[in-house]
Amino acid sequence: MDNLRKILKKINTKGELHFNEPMSSHTTYKTGGPAEIYYAPSDRDELKLLMSAAEQAGLRPFILGGGANLLVSDRGIKGLVIDVKNFNSISITPDGIASCGAGVIVDRAAEAALDSGFCGLDSFYGMPGTIGGAVWMNARCYGRSISDILISVDYLDEACILQRMDAQQNKFEYKKTPFQTMNTVILNAEFRLESGDKDLISRNMSENHADRKKKGHYSGPSAGSVFKNNRAFGKPSGAIIDSLGQRGTTVGGAKISDEHANIFINTGNATSTDIYRLIMQTKKRVKEAYGFELEPEVQMIGDFTDII
Ligand SMILES: Cc1cc2nc3c(=O)[nH]c(=O)nc-3n(C[C@H](O)[C@H](O)[C@H](O)COP(=O)(O)OP(=O)(O)OC[C@H]3O[C@@H](n4cnc5c(N)ncnc54)[C@H](O)[C@@H]3O)c2cc1C
Repeated sequence: MDNLRKILKKINTKGELHFNEPMSSHTTYKTGGPAEIYYAPSDRDELKLLMSAAEQAGLRPFILGGGANLLVSDRGIKGLVIDVKNFNSISITPDGIASCGAGVIVDRAAEAALDSGFCGLDSFYGMPGTIGGAVWMNARCYGRSISDILISVDYLDEACILQRMDAQQNKFEYKKTPFQTMNTVILNAEFRLESGDKDLISRNMSENHADRKKKGHYSGPSAGSVFKNNRAFGKPSGAIIDSLGQRGTTVGGAKISDEHANIFINTGNATSTDIYRLIMQTKKRVKEAYGFELEPEVQMIGDFTDII
């Protein structure tokens, strides 16, 4: 770690560098301890320099998108966090190929597509986070997965070499992508969009947004659905939790939303430990009642050992 600090101080950095950066400022739960080193590279060259410095120091960086699916330990993140927020270019060709940097906010991409008269990204409007995070997670909204419109992804592989993944030739499943078992940085994604009527696209976006609002998506800091759905369980995870009367259950400042049993919110003073305990307690109750093993969708980052 000291090595990396020395290297970073020597690099003539244009990006944003902070030591002991509170992750609560970078997660939609608004919780999480400090990242030892936080760096937002300004461009690909700087990112490559940073990745090789991390490799020399024997560190595997954590790549941060919009922090909309993260529960970061109150103990923080040891090592380096790389924020890709500056990879934020969007271009759309006249025949509907959208090229988006990993740091592009999903809403901005959907709005740019609307401006050009294209649909495809409208289903994802209202979902917090970045294009990189949506690709890594294979985000799914209103019956559509991001892989349904994905053409290719540019990424840096473990050796820091630029690669292109053809989405059709690789396995993208429900909330599962090849990136989840790779150590890579997603840089850019290309999507195939379809031309459509601007009024209809715009109406679809507004309706999705209103529906999310009605379901309580924005009523408090959260990471959206806590658990993945599993068809084998016969009901969505929210309905399973609901059937046990768990809405409104609290642990410290963490609460199961009154409006949606699969959304856990920070009521104001929650710690990640509170949220973690509520997740584990809910998982246990569901297991005891039905024998179902709910799988968290939220990514738990950092050290949660010995929290009971
Ligand atoms: C109110 C609300 C509603 C939500 N609704 C939905 C929904 O309808 N459907 C849905 O699928 N999700 C939903 N979510 C969850 C979240 O929005 C998605 O999972 C989103 O895709 C996360 O993107 P992110 O950029 O915030 O990723 P982050 O949370 O920052 O990261 C998630 C994972 O992706 C990795 N990652 C991110 N960017 C990169 C990159 N450039 N290169 C390599 N790895 C990367 C991270 O390391 C991490 O492992 C919701 C969340 C909230 C708060």
